Amino acid sequence: MTLHPSGRPAHLVDEHETFVTHLECGLTGETVPADTVQGLSPAGRPLLVRYDLEAAKDAVDRATVEARHDDWWKYREILPVRRSDDIVSLGETFTPLVPVPRAAARLGASSALVKDEGRLPTGSFKARGLGMAVSMAKELGLTRLAMPTNGNAGAAMAAYASRAGMETFIFCPADTPEVNVREIALQGAHVWRVDGFIDDCGRIVGEGKERMGWFDVSTLKEPYRIEGKKTMGIELLEQLGWQVPDVILYPTGGGTGLIGMWKAFDELEALGWIGKERPRMFAVQASGCAPMVRAYEAGERHATRWEDAHTIASGIRVPAAVGDFLILDAVRASEGAAIAVEDADIDRWASTVAKEDGLLVCPEGAATFAAWEQGIERGLIGRDDRVVLFNCGNGLKYPMPPSDRVLDTPVDWDRMEADAAAERPA
Ligand SMILES: *Cc1c(COP(=O)(O)O)cnc(C)c1O
Repeated sequence: MTLHPSGRPAHLVDEHETFVTHLECGLTGETVPADTVQGLSPAGRPLLVRYDLEAAKDAVDRATVEARHDDWWKYREILPVRRSDDIVSLGETFTPLVPVPRAAARLGASSALVKDEGRLPTGSFKARGLGMAVSMAKELGLTRLAMPTNGNAGAAMAAYASRAGMETFIFCPADTPEVNVREIALQGAHVWRVDGFIDDCGRIVGEGKERMGWFDVSTLKEPYRIEGKKTMGIELLEQLGWQVPDVILYPTGGGTGLIGMWKAFDELEALGWIGKERPRMFAVQASGCAPMVRAYEAGERHATRWEDAHTIASGIRVPAAVGDFLILDAVRASEGAAIAVEDADIDRWASTVAKEDGLLVCPEGAATFAAWEQGIERGLIGRDDRVVLFNCGNGLKYPMPPSDRVLDTPVDWDRMEADAAAERPA
């Protein structure tokens, strides 16, 4: 893709049309005007962006959209940004659907596709949400942004906001992976480690609002990160020829992606681009931090905070989510489930998929493989179901097992054969 000297993709230098009408509380339906700075709804819940889908349906069809350049902005009629001048871009792309035939064979399943979001700017799908939120922040004239993050969201916000000339304040739980804190700092943010979890960091962002004059870009506490994540669902269906898969396995922290995709499917149906069919949505969490799974199993619509959260999958170490009911509603309406997986299984799958299918997935991505296995064992997922697994981040951003063997010379070739044999997968 070529970039215009302004930094915008060359195909976006003209004004474009969006059909945004208003914002709506995800819980009460109360409406709030678009084109104004908004955080949570008056009821303290996430705001959802609404569009005039009838008008959008008349204005654009599937074929027109398919013919455009493959990036998020091709869906501009149902995205919130009004002026292409406000788009902040780092060279977004469609992410590939990568088959994993050996993993499928291990499970006796016919096939599965991994949507590899690690190819996006900043190496994770947080770029979708933050690319959109920062573009909207620019449109609304905001210049100072803050957020709590387990790592990837902060990195995406730092990158997009620095590009847009905005100042960012970012707070990470103490055990956020080192690489994330460093990339956040290097990309121009003010960043601190905080002794606590992500919701403790979120409290600091809330407390500092007045004194520091920043805008809170926390997950679901502003309306636009969902709209960015929504593009993941539209893009997926376009890649699948507008056929919905049977099963989507999504590693769920704050749930932005799951909620966003679910919202996308309804909008696509209203546009007449898909029918009534929906994938079964599986929210995947780690057994050391599984508030959605606990609420799902208890039949509750809201989740209680998970104490002493721990898992190697830091992106889904989220003890409490403001959009809990939106996640649980989507999981139930789709006849999916919420599944908790052990860290040991996450590790095992990360290693298996890397060694056998050549795909370096992040721990959260590996969690979806563990959930796929469990879903098959529990009879929730069929061996012939068309399954899509989300790898949300680039595996290179995470700690890897050490590999520090040195070759002595002269080379002992028998020893080399023996070492290689010992390392072959079982
Ligand atoms: C943030 C994150 C998640 C969870 O995404 P949500 O949409 O907030 O639930 C999963 N995996 C990775 C790698 C992440 O960075």
